[in-house]
Amino acid sequence: MAQTSEKELKVDSRKLFVPDKQELCKVLVEGLKENFADASVSVVDCPDLTQLPFTLASPGLCGNPRLADVGGVPNLIPLANKEKKYDIEKVAELVDLPGAYVLGAGAGCYQFFNFNCEMMANIKTKGGQSNERRNCTRISKVNPEDGSCVLQTCETTCFSLMANLFLSDGKPGKVIKVRASKRTGEENFVTCMRKTLAKKYGDKTVGLGGTFLIEQGKAKFHVMPDYSKTPLNTNDDVNNWLKFYEMMSPLVCFSCFLSHDPGLDLRLEHSHGFGHHGVGGHYHYDVTPDEVVYEAYYQVAETIYRVDAPTETHNVGRD
Ligand SMILES: [Zn+2]
Repeated sequence: MAQTSEKELKVDSRKLFVPDKQELCKVLVEGLKENFADASVSVVDCPDLTQLPFTLASPGLCGNPRLADVGGVPNLIPLANKEKKYDIEKVAELVDLPGAYVLGAGAGCYQFFNFNCEMMANIKTKGGQSNERRNCTRISKVNPEDGSCVLQTCETTCFSLMANLFLSDGKPGKVIKVRASKRTGEENFVTCMRKTLAKKYGDKTVGLGGTFLIEQGKAKFHVMPDYSKTPLNTNDDVNNWLKFYEMMSPLVCFSCFLSHDPGLDLRLEHSHGFGHHGVGGHYHYDVTPDEVVYEAYYQVAETIYRVDAPTETHNVGRD
């Protein structure tokens, strides 16, 4: 299945297992109830996600839902590879969905901004039937002056190093709505759902992409500072290098996860989020289990594309 595009990016793909949505609701709610005091999961008509607080660049998550895992952590660790630059427009073409609506988590474009940063991808790409682009992507960085987190808009369609993206036609339609509150277990919101699906579906890979809101409480996020000048060889090295923050809700996250890796060297979950109050970064978990309330809209992806998988790989820093 491997093929080479004109830009020499290697692309591999696999069809995903797509369970019936009603069955998925039952499976997810059972798993969530082991980790949250209250949980509900249902199939709903996607609300208009262009509205606050979500502010997606397209109204829905429907039509040709696909996941793309581009590059990877080995492009950052042990040392950043400054050559690794990708274009979301190009990714949309590589997954045969020019003009796709794209959301997800990745590294902001070092080559454009001249600093390392987190990307919250949220863009209706150009191409296909409509030639209009709507780029609502945001990036966040560490303010070198005082170590605070800074959120800003992103004028480029490019990113660096890696991204986990969900692509679709961005249309309204049926999606899976999840509500969960008062965390009683150790798993974060996404890991709980991912492990629940892994337990149920085994080596059949199920992949979801969408958006979740942390309505109440606070959550631990990280933001990458400038590239490390010394090699990051262990998870401790990575954690000492990253800047961690406890961010106040409401926080809007863009999220991709898969229940299983069918041999593509995938990152199984990746969620980045931001608050309209000016923060953003990589979601780890909420730190206020009693207060936390999550509301999510997810779509089930039909295919996973692996784009430009690093030739030398490892498992450091994939948390
Ligand atoms: Zn991240």
